[in-house]
Amino acid sequence: MELEFWGTRGTCPVSGRKTAGCGGNTACASLAVSPEELIIIDAGTGLRNLGRKLKESSRTERLEIHLLLTHFHLDHVWGLPFFEPLYSDRTVVTFYADEEPEETERLLASLMSRRLFPLEFSELRSRRRFKTLPAGRMHLGGVDVSYQPLTHPQGSVAYRLDGRHGSIVFATDTEHPLKGADEALIGFSRGAEHFVCDSTYTPEEYEDGRRGWGHSTWEAGVKLAEAAGVKNLLLSHHNPDHDDRAVGGIVRRARRRFPRTQAAREGLKLRI
Ligand SMILES: [Zn+2]
Ligand SMILES: [Zn+2]
Repeated sequence: MELEFWGTRGTCPVSGRKTAGCGGNTACASLAVSPEELIIIDAGTGLRNLGRKLKESSRTERLEIHLLLTHFHLDHVWGLPFFEPLYSDRTVVTFYADEEPEETERLLASLMSRRLFPLEFSELRSRRRFKTLPAGRMHLGGVDVSYQPLTHPQGSVAYRLDGRHGSIVFATDTEHPLKGADEALIGFSRGAEHFVCDSTYTPEEYEDGRRGWGHSTWEAGVKLAEAAGVKNLLLSHHNPDHDDRAVGGIVRRARRRFPRTQAAREGLKLRI
């Protein structure tokens, strides 16, 4: 199975030549577990392109989607109204979040409330279900899915996907303790093949008034990758103010400490 990134930008989408390498869309990744079943992590603006691809390539009668939300900040949900499969009656979507189902539905529906969007959420033709993340592991189409709460304003969660050929941990939108790293997240990420971390700030930017904003640096990502014994580190949730050159510089700094580091970018595929 391959996990594909559709958006790796944090906070706000960007456009233009200078950010085309990583891409300008916000958080979204997908894992096709079969021709008619898909796991999606986050519904940032990258979700729109995924929806277009699914419309072009899908030949099945039914499309089953498990949409795992890390949290409800705009950069993680704003692609939803523009996700074409939501408008099709052959799509069944189950939304998972660390929240009561009614509240998840209310928050997502508010993105399409009148005056903000021409259609209401309730008018979409797809079937939609809302579930609170279970305490233990979920088994979705041959993939074990688990989650871990993170330190972030209004909360967020990390996801771990364990497949047949490896595992991946998504831990964007989190802030680590000033000394050391998040011990619970280290345990959660132990031995993962791929670790996707929050690289919003350089250490210098972080120290310049960004403490308590709920985001991290490549340095915190390296510490965590080393402590958890992960194989590959992927820097993600790129700052909208960091163009490709800046991200390249951040990757080079991180590689001196953790050689198997790369920047997450739109179109990148990882096998799990
Ligand atoms: Zn974010
Ligand atoms: Zn956030």
